[in-house]
Amino acid sequence: MRRLNYFLLDLDGTLILGNRVLEGAVEFISELLQMGKKFLILTNNSSRSTLGYARFLRAKGFPITTKHVFTSGKATAIYLKEKKIKDAYILGTSSVLREFLSYGIKYSPRSANLVLTYDTTLNFGKISHAARILQRGTGIYVASHPDNVCPVEDGFVPDVGSFIALLKEATGKEPDFIPGKPSQYFFSRAMEIMGAREEETAIIGDRLSTDIKTGIDFGITSILLLTGETSLEDLRSSQIRPDMVFRNLRELLAYLRNKK
Ligand SMILES: [Mg+2]
Repeated sequence: MRRLNYFLLDLDGTLILGNRVLEGAVEFISELLQMGKKFLILTNNSSRSTLGYARFLRAKGFPITTKHVFTSGKATAIYLKEKKIKDAYILGTSSVLREFLSYGIKYSPRSANLVLTYDTTLNFGKISHAARILQRGTGIYVASHPDNVCPVEDGFVPDVGSFIALLKEATGKEPDFIPGKPSQYFFSRAMEIMGAREEETAIIGDRLSTDIKTGIDFGITSILLLTGETSLEDLRSSQIRPDMVFRNLRELLAYLRNKK
């Protein structure tokens, strides 16, 4: 087996499930740090900034910092900076607006550019203003990620994909770009942030259609965990074949220890 030094880690269903830390997850991260391995925790959820996520995960016992987290919101800020965009009307929480500002993108209701992130403080006034910007149609329109719903303990709540659909009904416009998963952009920026080499990198996740498919598309090692969305039956009936499958992170850790 190839020596693995870089890890792209899915968050929900891999390290945590809702508010619950999954078996072996904290030990796994601690040991990666001890072994000097590089990793990045990936999430499409853009309701928190990377700082917000780092705080949330530290409170759950994960010994990580902001540099270990990559959200679709951060990917969106990086994308806008690359496009030399200086301001936008951003639907987002205050911590996310601060993160955009740190990339030189100012929140401005007068901007011709529209950015959707997972704004859990969304209201009719914001949606109406966003629709008016799209009706004028003179700027760029970027949405952080395409997920329609976000799983919560007792079901699902609308996510950015639903906001996109609402604005499409109202204006006929769709985003010019969506930087979050499953876009190639998200993963190539994640690889750059880690300075990773493909042959030494693994993606670890619970979803065949996104995490594992991405691993295969990028030519990196793909590791499926059965702690989230995918059951053994799903795996057996799928065309998407991960390189390795483990019941949980504890088992993967035992495997990596033996490879040292
Ligand atoms: Mg997942």
